[in-house]
Amino acid sequence: MHPFVVNLNLFTMKHILTGLLLLGTVMAHAQICNDELEELTHLNQSNVRREISIPGFDQYQTLKCDFHIHTVFSDGHVWPTMRVAEAWQEGLDAIAITDHIEYRPLKKVVIGDLNESFKIAKRYGDGIGFIVIQGTEITRQKPIGHLNALFIDDANVMDVEDPLVAIDKALEQGAFIQWNHPGWPDDKSTLYPVHEDLLKANKIHAVEVLNHMEAYPIAYDWCKQYNIAPMANTDIHELITSNYGYGEGRMRPMTLVFATERSEQGIKEALFARRTAALFDGRLVGEEEYLMKLVEVSLKVRLISGKTVEITNISDIPFKITCGGKLYLFPTRKTVRISVPKEGALVVENCFVGLNKKLTIPFEYWSKVLL
Ligand SMILES: [Zn+2]
Ligand SMILES: [Zn+2]
Repeated sequence: MHPFVVNLNLFTMKHILTGLLLLGTVMAHAQICNDELEELTHLNQSNVRREISIPGFDQYQTLKCDFHIHTVFSDGHVWPTMRVAEAWQEGLDAIAITDHIEYRPLKKVVIGDLNESFKIAKRYGDGIGFIVIQGTEITRQKPIGHLNALFIDDANVMDVEDPLVAIDKALEQGAFIQWNHPGWPDDKSTLYPVHEDLLKANKIHAVEVLNHMEAYPIAYDWCKQYNIAPMANTDIHELITSNYGYGEGRMRPMTLVFATERSEQGIKEALFARRTAALFDGRLVGEEEYLMKLVEVSLKVRLISGKTVEITNISDIPFKITCGGKLYLFPTRKTVRISVPKEGALVVENCFVGLNKKLTIPFEYWSKVLL
């Protein structure tokens, strides 16, 4: 054999061997990956929903709702579908998308008319069986401030100069009008003549007594005074978790709606009938009748012996009750054994029925149940 040929053959074989070895390594590597692939699906929380336990009463179920939410279509940081995903995971029953009409800093980048963010969220909501309500925020300086129009079908026609005309255009669509964060941004919850006029004309149906991290105690009184519904909403612009954190114990602000059915129509009927309560950070604000019912259905009483009772809080609202100078705490989903006080009204320290007015359960009422 010619030495050159031998050399060539050796050269070729060396490369074939190297090639085979490399191929073997690649195949072995791929094989290892496939054999050892382990999907950690239990870490994927996108299909896991936390349940919030707040019982219903009479013929009503208690729905947990957020009627004030922003997306990138106004000044929010989040795509509309993510708002629905967050709310579903957080255990809510419904949300309203309420992007500003007049303030849309991203409109050159995020294309679409004033109904677009709702449409995107609604499509996603329909896919997972979650209620998404169409809304918008009419946004002006004080005195009139900001108002949400809920249950509308076209926000574009509300893009007009006069906010009163915008409200009328919303009312023509059967809207429910919510006065937002009356104490923002000046810390003064002032009810101006323009609000007085709107309230008299039945053009404001609700007020946010709690918004984001703020409470407006003077507005607790307006609910009774003007027959409007108390609301608590997030007004969320960032991620929910970046504002309210993670974990079982925490809860975003929410409006409790006492509805005959879990549907958009059910929610709308309940809102116009003013059957709501506002909830955030363990604080409940609402009409005496509804807060009383909530306390009653949340705290289950079992008589033990003599004057001792076990009280189980089946809800996710912690209750703080005082009686005769003593404080009783009823943490969520726990049972507490107490000696029943002999006299005095029960004051539910975290339930507000008006400005500086806490839910009070007279002795004659509770003693029949406990004594
Ligand atoms: Zn606002
Ligand atoms: Zn807002």
